[in-house]
Amino acid sequence: MDLYEYQARELFRSHGVPVLAGQTATTPEEAFQAATTLLGQGADLLVVKAQVKTGGRGKAGGVKLARTAEEAREKAEAILGMDIKGHTVHTVLISEGADIAQEFYFSILLDRANRQYLAMCSVEGGVDIETLAKERPEALAKVGIDPIEGLTESVARTIVSQAGFNDETVVHGVVEVIGRLWEVFTEEDATLVEVNPLVLADDGRILALDGKVSLDDNARFRHPEHDALVDNKATDEREARARAAGLNYVRLEGEVGVLGNGAGLVMSTLDVVEGAGHRHGNMRPANFLDLGGGSSAQVMATGLEVVADDPQVRAIFVNVFGGITSCDTVAEGIVTALSKLGPDFNKQIVVRLDGNNVERGREILQAANHPLVTVVETMDGAADVVTAIAQEA
Ligand code: GDP
Ligand code: MN
Repeated sequence: MDLYEYQARELFRSHGVPVLAGQTATTPEEAFQAATTLLGQGADLLVVKAQVKTGGRGKAGGVKLARTAEEAREKAEAILGMDIKGHTVHTVLISEGADIAQEFYFSILLDRANRQYLAMCSVEGGVDIETLAKERPEALAKVGIDPIEGLTESVARTIVSQAGFNDETVVHGVVEVIGRLWEVFTEEDATLVEVNPLVLADDGRILALDGKVSLDDNARFRHPEHDALVDNKATDEREARARAAGLNYVRLEGEVGVLGNGAGLVMSTLDVVEGAGHRHGNMRPANFLDLGGGSSAQVMATGLEVVADDPQVRAIFVNVFGGITSCDTVAEGIVTALSKLGPDFNKQIVVRLDGNNVERGREILQAANHPLVTVVETMDGAADVVTAIAQEA
């Protein structure tokens, strides 16, 4: 899960990373109120910042300075509703602004290929870091972090010296902040923590002026408090419903609903549907849905409901490999699910079952003789049938 900047700043604050005060606003009036509060607390410069989960907001005109509450209102009015790289701005952050002496870059990320973490740092921050990495790679320090040793103070010193810092006071401050950002990275189970720019302010403080954080969804069970960070507005309504039922659902662009058990099987199902679709009007997968290990009737019903509810879905492909949950249980699940879903459910379902107790499973479906269900023995065959049905529908 990627966080908004204002959420990243909250996490930073809770781990002692220095950030400036701020408040979010969804209307110009709220922006005016927030600005009034911040000015009342002694801020003399304000920044109005678009909250969208993409970079380059500054260049796109989504970050503007303001001196008065009235000006903050005007800037918020200009930014709210703006489209930044396909993201509509619904929220702005009204933040105290810094007088910047120097802008730096710092990030920590998961380096899967090398089975470690990677810290990157530069004294030339504020710029587009991809450009810097390409054009002047020597200006960007890259230091691998041993996951067992961690980002110790001595590693932090190596990073800042390679990054080109030399003023001892600044070095001291940056090393301290890097230590706290490492704490954010590990304690929050992040896969990315990026600060661009990390700045030296005129008054000598080191401040994180921007924050980009990705949290590891596989560690969500350790962080019930992260539930509050989920943005329900941005999450597809169906994705939210599937998640609540413990299903792994991702919406795609095609017409064929796909349900299966196990991420690997579902992924290959997407491939065969895509392949078969070329012969049938370019029908494509409409979604990824992994039912998980225990495909009970309830789970199957919820899965079918979520997929069928999508108006772009014209036909559904259920592809299950029976294991511990055997094919007969899955078949009974499908039959029960269909009766739960009732007469309003009207999308054709192509079922391919294989694995444990497959014969019994197919018998159950045949016996039920449901008008919407077609059983096909092979995966390729089923993909062919379902894309043909979708094309006709
Ligand atoms: P991004 O463009 O999406 O990465 O948004 P940033 O939060 O990094 O802001 C873009 C740029 O706006 C920064 O690189 C700064 O130059 C400028 N900026 C952001 N906050 C402040 C601030 O508090 N004071 C000043 N003077 N400039 C700021
Ligand atoms: Mn930035």
